[in-house]
Amino acid sequence: MATSSFLRSHRCHDYQALMRRWRSVVKGTGLALQPLFETAGFTVHSITPRRPRPGPALYLAAGVHGDEPAGTLGLLDWAERHPQALAELPLRLLPCLNPWGLIHNTRGDHRGLDLNRRFHLRRDPRIRAWQDFARAEPLALALTLHEDYEAQGIYCYELKAGRELVAPPPLQRAAQVIGPDPRGRIDGHRAGNGLIVRSRGIPRNLPGMPEAIELFQHWRCPTLTFETPSEFSLEERVQAQRRFIEGAVAWFRNRTGP
Ligand SMILES: [Zn+2]
Repeated sequence: MATSSFLRSHRCHDYQALMRRWRSVVKGTGLALQPLFETAGFTVHSITPRRPRPGPALYLAAGVHGDEPAGTLGLLDWAERHPQALAELPLRLLPCLNPWGLIHNTRGDHRGLDLNRRFHLRRDPRIRAWQDFARAEPLALALTLHEDYEAQGIYCYELKAGRELVAPPPLQRAAQVIGPDPRGRIDGHRAGNGLIVRSRGIPRNLPGMPEAIELFQHWRCPTLTFETPSEFSLEERVQAQRRFIEGAVAWFRNRTGP
């Protein structure tokens, strides 16, 4: 898409417009868009196959932080370009977990709480609904899509499950649009070529549980948190997000069969 038409049409903080596009993209794919929970006057939706599809699932989630719009838009862009993947794969999609935050361009929810430090809290009805969703089907791969205003390029935080790293090929694909973050330490972790890897010693002393760690502890599947740099052009960030997802889906298809 040309830059000018992208900028005219992106509406990246318009939750209703985002969900209208999702409703249209799932039509005819055998996927169902369903309410997951209510929050601050908005309905958060999940997207899953109407009929069971064989094999462990691919989990893709965006929009837990409302000021990181390339994640929500990148996931939608991927879906719009890959109808066959939508029709075939055992997907578990969460297009936007924090609509209030998205609309107000803010990290937290309507009470200023960071949802990504609350994924262990069953007493929060939103999290209870999310946990029931996230634990309902075994996962082979999980992706959570984020942005970081301190980033100097793209990077990925991989919670490594098997012997093999999953993130390098998707990172290379995304790096065709935005190069990897050159820093040797990112967010307090050792990094190389935009990749942070953790397989053991998942921190338990965090102020609260992120979505990725909660998923990893439950399923022990490769769990990737992908980050684009918020200060870069939105169009490129969206493209980088979409390419990263394409790379991860290619791994998923190879790993789990057609
Ligand atoms: Zn984030």
